Amino acid sequence: MKYHIWTTGCQMNVADSQRVGSELEKLGYHFTPTVADADVIVLNTCVVRQSAENKAYGFASSLKPLKTADPHRTIALMGCMVGVRGNPRLKKAFPHIDVFMPPSEPGPLVNHLLGKETLSEKDAELKTRYAVQDGDLILPMHEQHNLVTAHVPVVYGCSHVCTYCIIPARRGIERSRPVGDIAREVRSLVAQGVKEVTLLGQIVDRYGFDVPDGPRMPDLLRVLNDIDGLERIRFLTSHPNYMSDELLETVAALPKVCEHIEVPIQAGHDEVLAAMKREYTVDDYRRLIDRIRRYLPDTGIATDIIVGFPGETEAHFQGTLDLLAELKMDVCHSAMYSPREGTVSAKIMADDVPPEEKKRRLDLVNQLQEEIVTEINEKYMGKTVEVLVEDLHRGKWKGRTRTNKLVFFEDTRDLKGQRVNIDIEWAGPWSMRGKVSGTVSESITLTLAA
Ligand code: SF4
Repeated sequence: MKYHIWTTGCQMNVADSQRVGSELEKLGYHFTPTVADADVIVLNTCVVRQSAENKAYGFASSLKPLKTADPHRTIALMGCMVGVRGNPRLKKAFPHIDVFMPPSEPGPLVNHLLGKETLSEKDAELKTRYAVQDGDLILPMHEQHNLVTAHVPVVYGCSHVCTYCIIPARRGIERSRPVGDIAREVRSLVAQGVKEVTLLGQIVDRYGFDVPDGPRMPDLLRVLNDIDGLERIRFLTSHPNYMSDELLETVAALPKVCEHIEVPIQAGHDEVLAAMKREYTVDDYRRLIDRIRRYLPDTGIATDIIVGFPGETEAHFQGTLDLLAELKMDVCHSAMYSPREGTVSAKIMADDVPPEEKKRRLDLVNQLQEEIVTEINEKYMGKTVEVLVEDLHRGKWKGRTRTNKLVFFEDTRDLKGQRVNIDIEWAGPWSMRGKVSGTVSESITLTLAA
């Protein structure tokens, strides 16, 4: 029995797909990269932008002939297109789809498969296997010997109301997972070879805020930092308003937590931020970046920018460019505003920045960011950095620094999953190249030599 999962969208979707794969592996299915070979096909969808939604609609429609050819095949649609409340329009549009699942919930597919007549002879065996392994994340077999890094959701949903954002409507209110469940999942991943976990949440630094007197992000990080065999921890995405001093102190103090902070600003002008309902000002953000750099002097900082939000004038946009030039952050995820049905901005604000102007602004942001990151990365030249080796890519080893910089190097030894010190010999805006510093056994005991 084989399954195929098609995923679009954010890292939360990647983590959700991994979870679905895990549940299917428990039921005895194995991954296939070929859609037509799969007995179970899962589409994990994103609706953050119209283009992502169009892609999912296109792919879902294209599966009809496969279902007609083999009616026993199961097709499942999950993610933000379905949403936490379900979407009756989808059932009408795609009668060939068997299961509709909200984000992060593989349950409906598992129940469907366990209840299917074609599996009835195997039900007892499958149910036993499922019960025994329930709760542990079994990495899908095709990834089992490949994964050095994994994503672990720690907070589902979001209770904020940024006016442009469809996520709260589709992923529901904020729900933090218990520390014990997360730690158990991380231990299970580590037992299967994972060395680095990235903790995920729409507002990850609000972890635990929804639980009265509950644990907070620093508490969670301290628990995970003590897990034997786990070597690195990252977390994303943070909201500027919840990045407390205690959290930054904890990141600085815990050796496994990487110097890597993702904290979107979205726009560089107070009027646009107010219209977005982000609940901070440009000055608040400036002070935050200053605070991050005081606690973590060499940290990699990533931000997000939306250009062409309703009412964004040239002066507002110039504020964004000025702020990026001033703060010089390592990564800027940029996107053009796209009105999403059901959001406040789509309901009450005119999408009044023409597409070609949005594109011009996007290009300017990207061009500026390329200059900034080129300048930042040049500083790595001649330095030695610790790289966790993830995989081979076109004959070169590929890995990341603690600050999330991509590094390539050549070496004939099998270094997958090892932390290796690399002397940086070339640095471009998107990646760096270098060679192993000293012997591997020496280099994995070292951290960062300045
Ligand atoms: S914080 Fe705002 S942008 Fe982020 S998921 Fe929540 S509503 Fe969306």
